[in-house]
Amino acid sequence: MTRIDHLIANTIREDVRAGHVYNVPDASGYVKLDAMENPYVLPESLRIELGRRLADAALNRYPVPSYATLKQRIRARLGVPAGHDVILGNGSDEIIAILCMACARQMPNGKGGRAVVLAPVPAFVMFQRSAQFAGMDFVGVPLKPDFSLDMPAMLAAIAEHRPALVFLAYPNNPTGNLYDAADMVAIIEALGETGIAVVDEAYQPFAGTSFMARLPQYPNMVVMRTLSKLGLAGIRLGYLAAAPALLEQFDKVRPPYNINVLTQVAAEFALDHLDVLDGQAALLNAARADLAQALAALPGVTVFPSSANFITLRVPDPQQTCAKLFEARVLIKNLSRMHALLAGCIRVTVSTPEENSVFLNALKASL
Ligand SMILES: *Cc1c(COP(=O)(O)O)cnc(C)c1O
Repeated sequence: MTRIDHLIANTIREDVRAGHVYNVPDASGYVKLDAMENPYVLPESLRIELGRRLADAALNRYPVPSYATLKQRIRARLGVPAGHDVILGNGSDEIIAILCMACARQMPNGKGGRAVVLAPVPAFVMFQRSAQFAGMDFVGVPLKPDFSLDMPAMLAAIAEHRPALVFLAYPNNPTGNLYDAADMVAIIEALGETGIAVVDEAYQPFAGTSFMARLPQYPNMVVMRTLSKLGLAGIRLGYLAAAPALLEQFDKVRPPYNINVLTQVAAEFALDHLDVLDGQAALLNAARADLAQALAALPGVTVFPSSANFITLRVPDPQQTCAKLFEARVLIKNLSRMHALLAGCIRVTVSTPEENSVFLNALKASL
């Protein structure tokens, strides 16, 4: 071992040394349908105006860590109920990390003394990663083969593990479906005063439904969203809506200047033009219906219902399909080795009609 190897062995956590960097392939020259990005940009006139606003941002100053104007705009425009507030994250990825950090307490009677994060699986990978990095145990409860919640298993796991946090992505990634709302409520109620239900609404712009309005009913529920899938993945802004007393605790863990001034200006601007982004989401929802219909007509292909801006489908040979699509310069996500329930599955982001047909033609050629 070299000196640097010894240094690493003596300092870096074993689980970190054994882990992997979150891998994102280089997409230049490819039709990028692997990351649920919105393919549309803002119209020229808005981009010019945004450029002016960004030029006026005080880059020499730290942001004001209360972020009062941006939070006010989020509360007003995005349906946060009265009496509730938000905290902001550098993407909802950071909010997931903040939630875990704040809840990673030593348990007096728990197994191994670690607090638990629970989620139905397959789920968004950051739930497990953040739990691990915070020093929490992660319990994954398999969904049913149709990707609905296995309620007896969920309720039994909650009773057994008493999780501090339960993540419910609504709709779920990587499966695309909405869980039954009554099932979600039963989980929130089962947690009661012992656990926080985190409803992750990253795909809310495409779902046509939300738990946001139910916040006043359930003090142990928090609703997490992001501007990423709506069309601003590059600015990295997520938010968490909840009762102020709960947010106050999470806010203590948040790095004080986590939202930079450029993101702040861009997000305030975008929220003043939410109609443009909502219009793009409507186009994508229409394209999703067209794409799902075209995919369902292909022999050997099973399409799962989606309320997000992606479609999960099962194909006869996902390895070959992904390889052929890659040759055709189309990037999608091979889910087939992520979880047993996803055997044969791939995931494709819904894009413009043009990019969707590039994908569809390449897929047909690969089958
Ligand atoms: C994409 C995604 C996020 C992360 O969003 P960012 O705000 O870009 O960090 C969170 N949850 C789910 C389920 C997602 O698919």
